[in-house]
Amino acid sequence: MNAPYIKIKPPGPKALALIEKDRRHTAPAYGRVYPLVVKAGRGTVIEDVDGNLFLDFMAGIAVTGTGHSHPKVVKAIEEQARKFLHICGSDFYYEPMVQLVEKLAQLAPGPSVKKVFLTNSGTEAVEAALKLARYATGRKHVIAFFGAFHGRTMGSLSLTASRSSHRAHFSPLIPDIHHVPYGTCHRCPYNLKHDSCGIECVNYLEKVLFRYEVAPEEVAAIFVEPIQGEGGYVVPPSEYLPMLQDLCRRHGILLVLDEIQSGFGRTGKMFACEHWGIEPDILCVAKGVASGLPLGAMIAREEVSTWTRGAHGSTFGGNPVACAAALATLALIEDGLMKNAAEVGSYLKEKLTNLQSPYSVISDVRGLGLMVGVEFGRPDAGGAPDPKRRDQVVQKCFEEGLLLLGCGESTIRFCPPLIVTRQDVETAVAIFEAAIKAASQ
Ligand code: PLP
Repeated sequence: MNAPYIKIKPPGPKALALIEKDRRHTAPAYGRVYPLVVKAGRGTVIEDVDGNLFLDFMAGIAVTGTGHSHPKVVKAIEEQARKFLHICGSDFYYEPMVQLVEKLAQLAPGPSVKKVFLTNSGTEAVEAALKLARYATGRKHVIAFFGAFHGRTMGSLSLTASRSSHRAHFSPLIPDIHHVPYGTCHRCPYNLKHDSCGIECVNYLEKVLFRYEVAPEEVAAIFVEPIQGEGGYVVPPSEYLPMLQDLCRRHGILLVLDEIQSGFGRTGKMFACEHWGIEPDILCVAKGVASGLPLGAMIAREEVSTWTRGAHGSTFGGNPVACAAALATLALIEDGLMKNAAEVGSYLKEKLTNLQSPYSVISDVRGLGLMVGVEFGRPDAGGAPDPKRRDQVVQKCFEEGLLLLGCGESTIRFCPPLIVTRQDVETAVAIFEAAIKAASQ
């Protein structure tokens, strides 16, 4: 399958018929991005029900790292499905789960021994971390960041602050969560410049938050994405995470890293925090771990994992088929995909950065590996965010056979499967450039 190939402008007649049927009984809460109706996927290519072929640079929101239906992952799923589908890993034992927790414990950054709790999703991994952080420290308060996305269930939603619409009408959320600005240098919340700012975004916690609102001895954990995903693919300054880790250690606060979007090779390292040499107390993962099967994990340092029998559990968490898919996925990531993400990712960033000077509507290009964001700003308004143009570009790319996704206020994220080639990047960037031109007319 060679993409893109647009046979009929999407959505075609079959897509429209299915969308109409969907509308009747599907909860209206879903925030559908564009009318993509999928029939099949192979590698980096998605075929829609009308026979159009799309080049996938969004990977089901940074999930299908091994590409769509990688033969080795499909084989592992088939083999496990023939053996048994479910038994409940919270109550009983099976090999794929034992193997997977061992593998995740080994892969998690830092020298400490790790204990792993398996979930079905990212939000559940965050819920587990929130519960364990309170359990282990006996403290109630938690700190998270503006721009953060940690999930949509009540606990994780209380930490999420990437868009007020995510939280609207759901109050009261859980109490004692404090939000502070993130290390967003391209739009510094303190109006400072990186080299001379002293990393005010971390200092603020001790200078202001601990002084006026909550004492550090009452804080159980700081939840942070090493690179903000939903919030706009924001890479913090290099001092940021080491300083946060140091602050946590000084006050006995747990550092919880949410690598649900940035993990499993996407940034060119197994976990993004390895770019800064950080060992979190708790690591939350999901998305890319099992190539699309529902699986997440909360990985805690052994000293932190103090909870005892029956303190937490899940009927489906660590489902054997999902574990088998994860083991096959992790083998592929270690066996070349992570390296590819680093190499092709820097090529992608370079190609996108080259678009900045001819197209002044691009206000920033940032990212690591295959987690790259392109922000749109208004040149006539000092680079103020331009969500309208961003949305036009995303739509245009879809119509031309390139799948992209927005994030933050006016950013487009490039998070393709980790199998992408330089040729795929060239094709994608050419379509993207043409869409910028079209949106500028
Ligand atoms: N944390 C981060 C950083 C995410 O990007 C997401 C999902 O986009 C989540 C948590 C929630 O994961 P899930 O949708 O699997 O519940």
